[in-house]
Amino acid sequence: MAGQEHEREEDSAEKRARLILSLRSQGVTDPAVLDAIESTPRDIFTPDLFKERAWEDSALPIACGQTISQPFIVGLMSQALQVEPRARVLEIGTGSGYQTTILSKLARLVYTVERYRTLLAEAEARFRRLELTNVITRFGDGGLGWPEQAPFDRILVTAAAPEEPKALLAQLKPKGILVAPIGKGPVQSLRRYVGDGHGGFAVETLTDVRFVPLLEGVAKEP
Ligand code: SAH
Repeated sequence: MAGQEHEREEDSAEKRARLILSLRSQGVTDPAVLDAIESTPRDIFTPDLFKERAWEDSALPIACGQTISQPFIVGLMSQALQVEPRARVLEIGTGSGYQTTILSKLARLVYTVERYRTLLAEAEARFRRLELTNVITRFGDGGLGWPEQAPFDRILVTAAAPEEPKALLAQLKPKGILVAPIGKGPVQSLRRYVGDGHGGFAVETLTDVRFVPLLEGVAKEP
């Protein structure tokens, strides 16, 4: 019995190590980001049906027709955000809470907004289980940001915005960074906006991504 447990732990350590190697080879090299991913048990964020696949580098379905992002994309976005340890970060689209957890290991405070009550409640239970003390959650329409807590050092949008998210850019500090998938179709452009300190932004396109859409209002649930 104990032997079996041990085997399973080794199995998971090996799977984690393989994932980290794969992310590194794809260009995620920031040690803090890789550490955060390696130390976060992704299987607690996936539905039971997919636990076996938690350490694969793929997006997986979660409740409410949403998805937990692919680890490579989580790594890429977290790295592109250049999170400093003192940063206050706003995340739009809590979903499973996986990306939130990675951010909580990089930043001082993470504010996260989700439009499905069910998903938010499940994510909150995971944050408690992991004893994260620097995550603040909100049920609401993240497209509007979190004006009472603005401005933020960093903003990460984990659902596809149809166009430049002006309301969110307005809640960024002058030299802040916002990363978001932008586009109306099934494939979007991952963009990074870097504040120039005078109200303008340098905009870069990082890669193509596939995210669920950023929708208006909160979800109606039974
Ligand atoms: N970061 C998540 C990915 C979740 S998928 C993870 O790691 O699991 C995107 C999430 O954005 C979904 O849960 C979806 O409900 C949410 N979302 C979409 N539009 C939103 C909005 N306007 N406000 C808040 N959340 C939104």
